[in-house]
Amino acid sequence: MSETAQPTAAPQRARAEIDLAALRANVRALRAKAPGAAFMAVVKADGYGHGAVACARAAVEAGAGWIGTATPEEALALRAGAGLPADVRIMCWLWTPGGPWREAIEADLDVSVSGMWALREAVEGARLAGRSARVQLKADTGLGRNGCQPADWPELVTEALRAEREGLVRITGLWSHFACADEPGHPSVAAQLARFREMLAYAEERGVRPEVRHIANSPATLTLPETHFDLVRPGIAMYGVSPSPELGSAADLGLRPVMTLAASLALVKHVPGGHGVSYGHHYTTPGETTLGLVPLGYADGVPRHASGTGPVLIGGKWRTVAGRIAMDQFVVDLGGDEPGPGEEAVLFGPGDRGEPTAEDWAQAAGTIAYEIVTRIGSRVPRVYVDETIETSETSETNATNATNVATGPAG
Ligand SMILES: *Cc1c(COP(=O)(O)O)cnc(C)c1O
Repeated sequence: MSETAQPTAAPQRARAEIDLAALRANVRALRAKAPGAAFMAVVKADGYGHGAVACARAAVEAGAGWIGTATPEEALALRAGAGLPADVRIMCWLWTPGGPWREAIEADLDVSVSGMWALREAVEGARLAGRSARVQLKADTGLGRNGCQPADWPELVTEALRAEREGLVRITGLWSHFACADEPGHPSVAAQLARFREMLAYAEERGVRPEVRHIANSPATLTLPETHFDLVRPGIAMYGVSPSPELGSAADLGLRPVMTLAASLALVKHVPGGHGVSYGHHYTTPGETTLGLVPLGYADGVPRHASGTGPVLIGGKWRTVAGRIAMDQFVVDLGGDEPGPGEEAVLFGPGDRGEPTAEDWAQAAGTIAYEIVTRIGSRVPRVYVDETIETSETSETNATNATNVATGPAG
């Protein structure tokens, strides 16, 4: 397969437009929900597919003082390459033995520790770096994933305090994560909150003086003010996607979707009735019709589970994926309409032009909208709209409506 180089910088096949003004507005809306708390913008997994660098910058512009990632590698890349102010704190929480502790401590990251092996490695990293590590102790208050079990908490707290007295560690935070904050009224929320308060009290009674105590993800930030403590950690809501249909749509929550995924129709053709469409012939044209070819497939993150169900806006009408979604392309039945090749096909966006949303695709594929946006592949260029921070090389440009076309993977 060969692709002709495009004469212009504008990508012709497909693009994920990233509306950074929407992201900033979402950050402001979320901060207004938690006015007493600091704000950590979670940009793991390349900013949930939106591009970690641009999203971290935009979130900081809108008042985020903290950036959160899963892996230390993600955090180190942001510290080195995002041009964030030095006083913006960056925290990462998914460590494995042998991880880059020394580099993380030298880069002034806040590192999360869930158990004794990690505390030992953080302390050793601090010795090698010749400076103290900013350590946040993570409690498993009921999620049953990462974090320290209540039974193991006394040992972890005691040893962290010992390392703090030796000047090798500064315990900057105590924190946890919810299992069911997106299910209104779920009893585990109150149970986790009670457990969190007990584990905080234990640590504080023994002398831990954390800068921040935090447990709230997007749904908790939006709907559970009693969970806000000193800092909130929203991810998905910042990207304008509802954490769950039970909590309402993005618009219900005062959020605006940041990503619009669109492609240019690669082909429009007439076919007779009874014509099988795409692998396996799971769709057959019910009569003479026109078919449109959308040049996006599961390699681009369009879920194959949405074969036969995924919605697309073309020429003002919703169409449905006809037959199987292939690696690079899928087909829609245009019902006799004849849009020209190159006509825009919008898979999802904010919805105000009548297009489907990421939540619609999640429903079509039997998944959550988090997965829809996060899996959009690196072959789809991210096109940033309303980027306001200049790149370090150009000091004179600071256009508020600049469109920056990234041709490689986002970030
Ligand atoms: C991903 C993540 C978040 C953000 O969760 P959302 O539901 O996207 O708001 C917060 N904290 C931790 C530990 C996470 O892994």
